[in-house]
Amino acid sequence: MQNRVIILGSTGSIGRAGLEVIGGLGPECSVAGLAARSSWKALAEQARYWKPAAVAIAEDRHAGDLRAAVPPQTRVLSGAEALAELVDTVECECVLAAVVGSAGLPAILRTVELGRRLALANKEALVAAGPILMNLARRSGAEVIPVDSEHSGAFQAMLAGHRREIRKVCLTASGGPFRTWSAERMAGATLEQALSHPTWNMGPKITIDSATMINKALEIIEARWLFGLDPEAIEVLIHPESVVHALVEFADGSIIAQMGTPDMRTPIQYALTYPRRVTCPSPPLDLRELGRLNFEPPDPERFPAVRLGYEVARAGGLAGAVFNAANEAAVRLFRNGEIRFPEIVELTALTLARHEPNPQPIIDDLLAADRWARNEVARCLTC
Ligand code: MG
Repeated sequence: MQNRVIILGSTGSIGRAGLEVIGGLGPECSVAGLAARSSWKALAEQARYWKPAAVAIAEDRHAGDLRAAVPPQTRVLSGAEALAELVDTVECECVLAAVVGSAGLPAILRTVELGRRLALANKEALVAAGPILMNLARRSGAEVIPVDSEHSGAFQAMLAGHRREIRKVCLTASGGPFRTWSAERMAGATLEQALSHPTWNMGPKITIDSATMINKALEIIEARWLFGLDPEAIEVLIHPESVVHALVEFADGSIIAQMGTPDMRTPIQYALTYPRRVTCPSPPLDLRELGRLNFEPPDPERFPAVRLGYEVARAGGLAGAVFNAANEAAVRLFRNGEIRFPEIVELTALTLARHEPNPQPIIDDLLAADRWARNEVARCLTC
């Protein structure tokens, strides 16, 4: 069966892994479109190799350079709307959404509206607009297949029973680089330390989110909307080896776990080929070599972000959009050396507490809340 794929965020870590996966899937899988925010050179190189029908670049100023560097038959779209336009105008069966942050939201919603399969690596879309996205998918019949490793694991384990038989879903967390650090030590953590993840090789934003454990908070919210779970039915378990990605407990007490090497190519490929399973370039998991698996509960004192995840999952409305945008803004400040590591979570929590709730937001409300939260973080910094 033909599988034409658009990759939103093709020059990032997930996008590049996605292209590698597509390369291994043979002639039935092809690249229909590619999109990036600003890395036009890498995007042009990908376009020359994969020959997509169109490419999109969000930052307008690179459009000329990009146009001159891609094959003549490749259409070039540019500007803030370019990603959604790419989805709108290029025929495909599947969109791999690997854009970082809330910038990919319009294109992701458009994918779902058009009834195409959404291979979703961008957790921010579900965090900010979960109910809207899932409602659109129900109406159009679009499949939303998670690429986030924990959610891919839960999605796979859930197939062992019926939805109403699920008692709880457990998402694992590596604990990040500061799992064993004291709060005092974390207060002085440098950018370099926050960027050295023990098990996963990922982009800088998600690696910092993993160090604060805001990544797990975002994943609680993601699971709440993606699977329609009560927040109370979602559990977080620290598992430093990162080989058990999720566990699903059923009514009879049976727990089904999904395991594998910590390698994003596996969940990316599964989202593209589901329900089929085919050979994947990631190395197989060797349990004999690994020897043992460890699990422990997260420490709420040192990692207050996890509790925030439950709060936002329970609150719904604008809370997800505010939480996500405030964190994105705070992470940028930390990367620029303007705030200390613990202030990422502090600023995010403060902004969340100050937002004006709205239980039934439309998409414009979410975008306004996103802008408000970013401004609020900047404002808090100076007051
Ligand atoms: Mg994850």
